[in-house]
Amino acid sequence: MKPVRFEYFAPQSIDEALDLLSQHGSDAKVLAGGQSLMPLMNMRLSRPAIIVDINRLQGLDKVETEPGGAITCGALVRHRTLEQATDVGGPAPVLAYAARHIGHSQIRNRGTVGGSLVHADPAAELPALAIALEAQVVLRSAAGERLLEATEFFITDLTTAIEPDELLTDMRVPGLTGDWGWGFHEVCRRDGDFALAGAVSLVRTGPSGVCDDARVTLFGVGGTPTRITAVETALVGTKLDDRTLAGAARLVEESLDPASDIHASMEYRKEVGAVVARRSLEDARTRLAVGGI
Ligand SMILES: Cc1cc2nc3c(=O)[nH]c(=O)nc-3n(C[C@H](O)[C@H](O)[C@H](O)COP(=O)(O)OP(=O)(O)OC[C@H]3O[C@@H](n4cnc5c(N)ncnc54)[C@H](O)[C@@H]3O)c2cc1C
Repeated sequence: MKPVRFEYFAPQSIDEALDLLSQHGSDAKVLAGGQSLMPLMNMRLSRPAIIVDINRLQGLDKVETEPGGAITCGALVRHRTLEQATDVGGPAPVLAYAARHIGHSQIRNRGTVGGSLVHADPAAELPALAIALEAQVVLRSAAGERLLEATEFFITDLTTAIEPDELLTDMRVPGLTGDWGWGFHEVCRRDGDFALAGAVSLVRTGPSGVCDDARVTLFGVGGTPTRITAVETALVGTKLDDRTLAGAARLVEESLDPASDIHASMEYRKEVGAVVARRSLEDARTRLAVGGI
């Protein structure tokens, strides 16, 4: 199939793009990498009358380090760029590693950070990383700018808090203080597919080797990526030994309540969720043992 007729605009500046969004509201759709929007338009599941192509906007394609190790990632940073940005410090290695799991190289060459966040597929890697890394998103409209925590931004499957007249311009990822280790695991039917279940874990230890902070985020198992706070609490105060990690995996399985669909049953997702959580925690522990991040 082909899309319904639409009018195409290619603004040269952010202000011009914001004017178009403010003028056309929900009739307009932003086009970034087109890797999710174009298939939806071709299947006529999305029928925008106006397309605002943001690919010519300057300054939104950079991954930059801020003081304290925070990272600002522009909306037009391609997944491929993020994948290669391992040397910018802070939480960059985990972002780069996760980006490598997005689709295939052709998709990563075009797909963008902003597009992935706004599309908000529950099985996508970057929304899970935004939750795990306690990122914020910057949303701009002709009326001004607002900053939202990732937890406020993702509402449910393919639904976020962005308004039709807003452009997501950046993702801001805070720096990680202290010794953190991380792990990322997902299970897909085929290489490059969306995850059936995935996990991102971050653990921090104090000087005595005892865990003093933990973040365990599961994705592909609900409407949005979710931190499993019961597991995080159970990990703090432990030495992250095998027995503790096995207990954490059991707790993940008990905490999840995924839906069954054509890709996987609820039971399968719960079991695999526990497995990827345990593997991600084991990797986080291993990275900590060799100096962290
Ligand atoms: C075969 C295939 C496999 C894939 N596998 C994966 C995978 O494993 N993991 C994964 O995460 N993704 C996967 N994707 C999706 C891919 O990552 C897309 O790049 C991503 O979902 C959307 O990014 P985009 O830049 O292409 O956005 P677009 O398709 O251009 O836009 C997506 C949505 O976001 C809106 N939008 C885009 N940018 C902005 C912005 N800056 N401000 C406001 N609104 C905006 C658009 O209006 C649209 O609603 C796959 C895609 C394909 C085709």
